[in-house]
Amino acid sequence: MNSLRVLLCGYEMLPFFKKGGLGDVMGSLPKALDIIGVEAKAVIPYYQDIRSKENLKRIGQFFIHFGSGEEEVGVYKTNLPNSKVEVYFLSNRPNLSYINTRGKNKKIDQFAFFDLAVSHFISYLSYNEKWLPSVIHCNDWQTSLIPLILKKKTSLNIPTLLTIHNHNYQGIGSLKVLDLLHIKDEDTKEIKRGKPVKEINILGEGIIHATKVSTVSPTYAKEITQNHMSGQLKYFLEKRALEKGERDEILGILNGIDHTVWNPTLDNQIFHKYDLSTLDEGKRNNKEDLIRTLSLQNKPTFAFIGRMVKQKGVDLLIKAIKKLNNNINFIFLGTGDPNIEKSITRVITKSTVSNIKAIFDYDEDFAHKLYVSSDFVIIPSHFEPCGLVQMVAMKYGTIPIASETGGLKDSIIHNKNGILFKKNSASSLFGAIKHALLLYNNQSKFRKMQVLAMKTDFSWDKSAKLYKNLYTSLVQS
Ligand code: ADP
Repeated sequence: MNSLRVLLCGYEMLPFFKKGGLGDVMGSLPKALDIIGVEAKAVIPYYQDIRSKENLKRIGQFFIHFGSGEEEVGVYKTNLPNSKVEVYFLSNRPNLSYINTRGKNKKIDQFAFFDLAVSHFISYLSYNEKWLPSVIHCNDWQTSLIPLILKKKTSLNIPTLLTIHNHNYQGIGSLKVLDLLHIKDEDTKEIKRGKPVKEINILGEGIIHATKVSTVSPTYAKEITQNHMSGQLKYFLEKRALEKGERDEILGILNGIDHTVWNPTLDNQIFHKYDLSTLDEGKRNNKEDLIRTLSLQNKPTFAFIGRMVKQKGVDLLIKAIKKLNNNINFIFLGTGDPNIEKSITRVITKSTVSNIKAIFDYDEDFAHKLYVSSDFVIIPSHFEPCGLVQMVAMKYGTIPIASETGGLKDSIIHNKNGILFKKNSASSLFGAIKHALLLYNNQSKFRKMQVLAMKTDFSWDKSAKLYKNLYTSLVQS
């Protein structure tokens, strides 16, 4: 076994289970790695949602000691569609069937269970599947205890990479989780008695214990390390910097998108397929079908697609929309914080004509239709680690209007393939929408921007190579 072998760990993975952008990444990066000669496998929990759709065959089981009991972990396996990448699913009815939404500690405990299970699963893989990873790639807080568990609970000496996809979700909760894991040595003492004393910060522990830490765009890497955007993570980032020295920078590698999933020439979920040569007709036909479906008139059409959480900047959008007249259509697709949903409903009920629509749902199929049929997609995020919405939109010739932050800044060239505005500024967003309308009325300029957007390369090719280099450096160090 001389090749580079990477085990990607995460809590979501397209097409099995998706909540946000990490799902897209877990479903596409392993395929891109496989193409360039990295042997990639992935492991996620076997949620009930996946079990009822996939009904996979159980290939084995092992036992772990968690809390006061011995727990059985079932192993299931299938391939990522259209690839030879193998995906493993770990099952345990009490801990891994559903994502626990009742209380932060319950969620923390269940992902601690998953991380412990993954750490044992590595030996299972080696023994039963004759495959030992050379790097473990952890993603976000849900898998951030793996580096600590590997060090403290196993004799495996495998380098770990932790990729932060969103620093805002850190897995903060009761230190009792360490007792469930039976971690009872110096590290526990440090976590319990050092700073911060009261609670465990799981992403923070990942930052301390992973061999390397990366994030999902170069600008976001700077934002969390230099601009003090990291909040509570600052302590852990500083501690790591102190321990590892200056050469250990947090690397930012931009995500890609899967062009077999997001592609107007292949997409079976859109109303009409098209390519660059049939762009005008394709966009027109798709838009006609969408506005008919939603009982809208033919006007410049703007969309928001995303989780309804504070980060995504719906507050700015509402302020800007209030200042606009009714000569546009606006369609929201998203679900999340009920207060944000209510604020959108209030704007809609106050509006004199029905040019604003909102679908408060997670709807993969409708998302495809909305991406393709809109003229513009607005991404007003207060911060955005990478963002996939702008990349997907561009692939369909839909122009992104986005805050100048994180991965949005790294993937959009202002006035070339999209429009950027000053982050956290409703007036700058309002100006950007006005600018977009002027552009829309100048068909040749608008078309030029659409073509440039569609031609921008967001495939995984470049970034997969950067990950390969990073994994190689970890194996060699
Ligand atoms: P985040 O990971 O913060 O949610 P990203 O922009 O990285 O944001 O990725 C969001 C992904 O989730 C995109 O693929 C987007 O199309 C999808 N998505 C977000 N909200 C919805 C929704 N309500 N219905 C369908 N897809 C959605």
